[in-house]
Amino acid sequence: MRLDVITIFPHYLEQPLAESLIGKAREKGILDIRVHDLRAHAVDTYGSVDDEPYGGGAGMVMRPEPWFAAVESIDGWKQAHRILLTPAGRRLDQQVASTLATQSHLILLCGRYEGIDERVSEGLILDEISIGDYVLAGGEAAALVLIEATTRLVDGVVKERESIERESFSAGLLDYPVYTRPAEFRGMKVPDVLLSGHHAEIERWRSEQQQQRTADRRPDLLPPDLPD
Ligand code: SAM
Repeated sequence: MRLDVITIFPHYLEQPLAESLIGKAREKGILDIRVHDLRAHAVDTYGSVDDEPYGGGAGMVMRPEPWFAAVESIDGWKQAHRILLTPAGRRLDQQVASTLATQSHLILLCGRYEGIDERVSEGLILDEISIGDYVLAGGEAAALVLIEATTRLVDGVVKERESIERESFSAGLLDYPVYTRPAEFRGMKVPDVLLSGHHAEIERWRSEQQQQRTADRRPDLLPPDLPD
């Protein structure tokens, strides 16, 4: 998968995108991630990319010209799935991430200040995505969340496919609790069933735990009760 991210803070993204699963997938050539500095397409030699809002009001708005120039400088941009990170977008969840994971090329636009001139959405953007109902200072943290949630669903990024298929939200349920050594720690014991070696019993216990946890913590994820 190819990913291009456009930002005024390229350094913000570089280290997280070089670590762990994503870093390894880049080394293996499974992910081709490129971070672009919007200021390379500034409207003047001072690196300006923003201006005062028409109609007045607080803060600055990002001008359209640098965004159009930055996107149009990316090879293959016309065929790419072009996403704006914005609190006004559709909410990112596991389902959205798994659909995005089927794309071969994503371009992500990270806003700052009061946001981006609306003509960028009109002329360039195919999809607007929010990571939740709160306002961040910029789209970079949101882009990292989207990239991490999406790329771990791309074939070859996570070694054990099973860990993806069983985890929270994949089957519409939260994950079951997990334990490792020691079998007892500060008086807290690992449930006997997990030490029993009885695979069918372990599976049953895990499945019950998933149902129970989801009912206790996220009942909204469960299908509605059927009327009697
Ligand atoms: N004035 C905007 C509003 O009220 O919707 C907020 C602008 S915010 C300070 C600056 C940038 O952060 C946005 O352009 C967007 O790219 C990013 N951003 C902030 N919150 C976000 C969220 N929940 N999801 C995705 N991106 C977000």
